[in-house]
This record gives sequence, structure tokens and C-alpha cells, in this order.
Amino acid sequence: MNDCLFCKIGAGQIKSDVVYEDQRVMAFRDLTPKAPVHILIIPKKHIERVSAVTEPDFGIFADLHRAAQHVAKSQNVFESGFRLITNNGKDAGQTVNHLHYHLLGGKAMTWSPV
Ligand code: 5GP
Ligand code: ZN
Repeated sequence: MNDCLFCKIGAGQIKSDVVYEDQRVMAFRDLTPKAPVHILIIPKKHIERVSAVTEPDFGIFADLHRAAQHVAKSQNVFESGFRLITNNGKDAGQTVNHLHYHLLGGKAMTWSPV
């Protein structure tokens, strides 16, 4: 087993507040939520970031977005709206080097990423 935090969460070796899980994807509450709904959606396979995905693994994006729809519905933001963000690398402020989407919602958000 590698030393990756989200690999360990995905394998159930570190506890998290799981809101969705299937064979390839897990979704759990962010430890320090930035919105009333703040869920992290990860592949169970270790892939570092969007830019590290290669041809055999592109299906993971379908899996992650399918999971995002499930989560948005279960968290009651499917109709009201939600934001899906993935930070890719240093300039984007990625702090955990395992591909993940943030699903944020539950309030009206502003848009000022810089
Ligand atoms: P990034 O900054 O890489 O885009 O997002 C990493 C996210 O992981 C942050 O929002 C941070 O709060 C969250 N996080 C870091 N460590 C843990 C943890 O141990 N458990 C959970 N549930 N979230 C974590
Ligand atoms: Zn990992």
C-alpha cells in the first residue's frame, strides 16, 4: 500500500464520512467544508491529477461525473445548483496528490477564483 491519504480513505483504511461508493469511486465529506455541502469525489485507483490521466483510464471521468450526479441528488443540490472543481497541480493549489473533485453547494456562491 502506498502512502496516499485518499488511497487509504478509498480503501476504508482511514475513516471518512462516506456519502456514495461504488466499485471504482468513493465520495465523502471534506474535513474542512467550504460550503454547507462539500463532498470530495475520488477514484479508488491512484491517479495523481487530471493531467496524469492516460488513455486506458479516461473512463474514470464518466465514473466521477456519474457519482457527482448521485451525490448532488442525495445532498439535495441537484436542482438548486452545485459546483464541481478539481485543482490540478501547484498553481491551482492542489494539496492532496490523488485526483478528486470538490462538489460544493447549499448556498449561492460567488465566482472569483483569483
Ligand atoms: P485540494 O486542496 O487538493 O484540492 O483538496 C484537498 C481537500 O482535502 C481539502 O479541501 C481538505 O480539506 C481535504 N482533506 C484533507 N485531508 C483530509 C482528510 O483526512 N479527510 C477528509 N475528509 N478531507 C481531507
Ligand atoms: Zn492515492
